[in-house]
Amino acid sequence: MSKVAIVTGGTKGIGLAVIKRLLLSGYDVHNLDIEHSEYGQFHHCDVSDVNAVKNCIATISQQTQRIDVLVSNAGKHLSANIECTDEQTFDALFALNVKGAYAAVQSVLPTMKQQQHGAIILIASDQAIIAKSNSFAYNLTKHALASMAKTTALDYAPFNIRANAVCPGTIETPLFHHAIDTYCEKSGANKADIVAEEAALQPLNRLGKADEVAALVQFLASDDASFITGSLQSIDGGYSAQ
Ligand code: NAP
Repeated sequence: MSKVAIVTGGTKGIGLAVIKRLLLSGYDVHNLDIEHSEYGQFHHCDVSDVNAVKNCIATISQQTQRIDVLVSNAGKHLSANIECTDEQTFDALFALNVKGAYAAVQSVLPTMKQQQHGAIILIASDQAIIAKSNSFAYNLTKHALASMAKTTALDYAPFNIRANAVCPGTIETPLFHHAIDTYCEKSGANKADIVAEEAALQPLNRLGKADEVAALVQFLASDDASFITGSLQSIDGGYSAQ
């Protein structure tokens, strides 16, 4: 029987790269996203809706009778300081980035406890470790995911369930392009210049690739990572080491 992996937000970007790698490794992969994808088994699910996530994962676990890996990846970026973050925007970001992860982790645990193994990978950010300007609410959500990885690791180690957070730096995905486009629209800056500036900010002098993050996720999901839990794994070209 194939191992089963659930990925949230797997239609684009990092999630899609993760799904492609897990499919090549022979996993039966389930993608919870709001936009259809041909990769893996697609489940239309708004991850910011806790009940929708719970119902979707309950259906998958009834069908598969096992869940080996959860990659909680769906998330949005927001550029704003605290004064410019209204309550509605704050709540919406938390609903997706934090409550969506909470719902997904909580929903896979009964099956993982029963089978006495499981790997949970939360896609956080370098902003789970460091701060960046104009990033108040996003930074809070990513610190929350780091905390979720650590507390879940401690609470479920007795069941041989591992939980880790992956902390990517600047990775070239649709989310990255959306953030740059929004900035250029507001400021009138030239997109090519801004992308080059972003690359130059990284010690390795380039942007990261979604597949590089997926390779780390694939490793953390595997038995080769069997003694790694409760960790924050930086993958940022050296950015947070500065
Ligand atoms: P992305 O390119 O925007 O892909 C995210 C996927 O999640 C998209 O398919 C998106 O669909 C989906 N999604 C959005 N809202 C959703 C919802 N409510 N329910 C279900 N799916 C939803 O983003 P990415 O850059 O791959 O980022 C993935 C994760 O990595 C995020 O948690 C992000 O914070 C984190 N991260 C990214 C970077 C980076 O530089 N790219 C750096 C650090 C951390 P739509 O496109 O239709 O909205």
